[in-house]
Amino acid sequence: HADVAMYRAKETGRNNFQFYTSEMNERALERLRIEGDLRNALERNEFVLYYQPQVDLRTREIVGVEALIRWQHPEFGMVPPIRFIGLAEETGLIVPIGAWAIQEACRQCKKWQKEGLGHPRVAVNLSARQFTQQDLVDCVAAALNETGLAAEYLEIELTESLVMADVDHAIGILRELKALGVQLSIDDFGTGYSSLSYLKRFPIDVLKIDRSFVNDITIDPDDAAIVASIISLAHSLRLQVIAEGVETIEQLGYLRKHECDQIQGYFFSRPIPAEAMGRMLQDGHRLQAESAGTLI
Ligand code: C2E
Ligand code: MG
Ligand code: MG
Ligand code: MG
Repeated sequence: HADVAMYRAKETGRNNFQFYTSEMNERALERLRIEGDLRNALERNEFVLYYQPQVDLRTREIVGVEALIRWQHPEFGMVPPIRFIGLAEETGLIVPIGAWAIQEACRQCKKWQKEGLGHPRVAVNLSARQFTQQDLVDCVAAALNETGLAAEYLEIELTESLVMADVDHAIGILRELKALGVQLSIDDFGTGYSSLSYLKRFPIDVLKIDRSFVNDITIDPDDAAIVASIISLAHSLRLQVIAEGVETIEQLGYLRKHECDQIQGYFFSRPIPAEAMGRMLQDGHRLQAESAGTLI
């Protein structure tokens, strides 16, 4: 019975799981276990950053990398952020974990520069709890100071919901971050609610089009229209625009035609460890120019 109940609970989704006691206990236990492990993961050095290149469509060069956290769990292996960021948020552990990620990304970016591997900027994701944390700006300033990375090479990714939760507060923090000299971007753009008039008031530099729109641009005319509009909106507000989740040459072609500035996605590279990213920078890896005689 327990097995059947568990199976059904999974099938019908989380909302029904209170009816299935065994499932609930199991989940609660797993959660406790993960939470306990998460508390020690930082001091045990179990987090790693992977890096995914962002490529300029005009020069075809890597102009940025996004730092994406993974948890190298001693038992479960490489745990993706979707499995622990939410819990880290709820418990507040995201604050020290996030501070580590900012510091580590800056350190790595500076290291590449010292090794003569060019000057791509590094983008770090920020979660809601970090954004409302008192000393966020000090934390970012400290990471830059301690690693020696020039501020212009650090980009902070925020989401619409994060900045829209308290617009006046957000504008204050964003201005302080801009005063440090860092770049600011809006991640997953188009999935949240943000009024265009607010967008104009935020001192941001980059819009990242959510991959759910990019995914279907070549088959869904609505998504194609949305993406084209976001690109032209971004440009009329003098913002750079990055398309996320680019997987195919057809998507790339559409984005190039509509003058998207940069792409990020499996088409060029998955997120990879720092050493592999270093080799990619070393080799001067670029977006391939020709395909069947057509410039893409
Ligand atoms: P995100 O910031 O929107 O990052 C992009 C996600 O899309 C990454 O997933 C990346 O691996 C994935 N992706 C990139 N290109 C493609 C593609 O072509 N196809 C598909 N299907 N997926 C693609 P990942 O690494 O699992 O990260 C998931 C989310 O976890 C991130 O979404 C971000 O919101 C969060 N996250 C990651 N690292 C951190 C961190 O250090 N701090 C915080 N607060 N959140 C983080
Ligand atoms: Mg991101
Ligand atoms: Mg995103
Ligand atoms: Mg995100």
